[in-house]
Amino acid sequence: MEKRVYVETYGCQMNAHDTERILRLLEGSHYLETKNAQEADFILINTCSVREKPEHKVYSALGRYQWLKEKKGAILGVAGCVAQQEGGRLLDRIPYLDMVIGTHAIPMLPQLLQKIEVSGERVCETAFDPEGGYLKTILPQEPLHKVKSYVTIMQGCDHFCSFCIVPYVRGRERSRPSREIIEEVERLVEMGVKEVCLLGQNVNGYGKGLKEEISFSKLLHRVNEIEGLDRIRFTTSHPKDLSAELIQSFSKLKKLCEHIHLPFQSGSDKMLKAMHRGYTKESYLEKIDRLKKLCPSMAVTSDVIVGFPGEEEKDFEDTLDLIQKVRFDDLFSFKYSPRQGTRAAQFTEQVEEKVKQDRLSVLQGIQKEITLQKNQEWEGRVEEVLVEGRSRQSDQDVTGRTRSNRIVNFEGDLSFVGRLIPVRITKAYPHSLRGGILDSEVTCSPQCLHCQSG
Ligand code: SAM
Ligand code: SF4
Repeated sequence: MEKRVYVETYGCQMNAHDTERILRLLEGSHYLETKNAQEADFILINTCSVREKPEHKVYSALGRYQWLKEKKGAILGVAGCVAQQEGGRLLDRIPYLDMVIGTHAIPMLPQLLQKIEVSGERVCETAFDPEGGYLKTILPQEPLHKVKSYVTIMQGCDHFCSFCIVPYVRGRERSRPSREIIEEVERLVEMGVKEVCLLGQNVNGYGKGLKEEISFSKLLHRVNEIEGLDRIRFTTSHPKDLSAELIQSFSKLKKLCEHIHLPFQSGSDKMLKAMHRGYTKESYLEKIDRLKKLCPSMAVTSDVIVGFPGEEEKDFEDTLDLIQKVRFDDLFSFKYSPRQGTRAAQFTEQVEEKVKQDRLSVLQGIQKEITLQKNQEWEGRVEEVLVEGRSRQSDQDVTGRTRSNRIVNFEGDLSFVGRLIPVRITKAYPHSLRGGILDSEVTCSPQCLHCQSG
């Protein structure tokens, strides 16, 4: 008999993709997704603790669903970073919780669910799996009805930046064999996917520890050859490991979009050292320079942290200086938040909350201007847009993204979805672009495989 699963997801792309994998896996156990918790037989809270303190979110979410367990017998579970960190303590604190499932235990989910269904036993599974079984391919069973998809190529991280919880909750870096990745992308393409984003905390480290001889650039070359796929993106790349070979890939691979997300975290060498990042402001700027020389239309986005322990006004100015020099297309900015168990949480010179907030506001004000100006540079150009679906703003419009990852809304109908359409950009906004198709007759761009296949 079919059952329903409701997953509430917090955090980053990695977590959102884990939720997708969980849903695919449960399809095989006759659990289909519902967006309505009230009709769910299984409710899973998939948590992330990279930047926020999510424990209270977990408690309040579980509190909200407690009555569904009591009235309808729904099974309640917690997955993700908090599950990994807290383990059995969650079961001790929340008597009505049935399941705690760590980041490496996802493939065990169907068996654990069955155990709870049969015996009513409460389960906790948070061991790290040194064999990498948690990376096993989980192919979609049902049509995806979507144009783009994430594909995990590696998990975990060996870098141990002093602020970051990832190595503790996701374990050590581990890559998936290239054959499995290629098979997954091929399957996604068969199901209508046109763009893949290859996911890992540090994709430049891809291939380490595998039996085969392969680097991330080589993997990109192989994905680029997959017929029917239009676009490739990846995230995230660590500046220290950004290789010359990878930079060259942008000029060699037609499907690789001209966009890189390259988190810099701080423009102060003193802070970068304390963060244990392994590069300097100057070496970061040199890499950006090389990327832009090779590919002048390259869009660069980044992450930055303000208020890291010991950050003084001069350090913050160095960060602003880097932002002005690079002129990022977009920037994700965060106030430093101590993560239990990381080295920086022990540092004595923690910065006052008000100082962090003030610095964040100044930085975001500067970046807002830059983002708008960068968007305005696109006005008048004709850009290839991969259409993803109906725009949220108007029923007359469709929405898609340029190769540089900018959102473009323009008038069109659902027959455009999944096609690469050349669009003239007419107006820039802070977070998106407005465009119009060139003729009344829609012609796809020469790369559009939809058209080439007839
Ligand atoms: N692996 C990527 C890298 O090295 O650039 C970053 C991945 S991390 C999951 C995403 C972003 O969260 C980081 O780039 C950083 O800006 C932010 N972040 C991580 N830990 C943080 C903390 N303790 N406080 C504030 N921001 C944090
Ligand atoms: Fe965290 Fe650093 Fe690893 Fe990125 S490279 S996931 S910031 S430890």
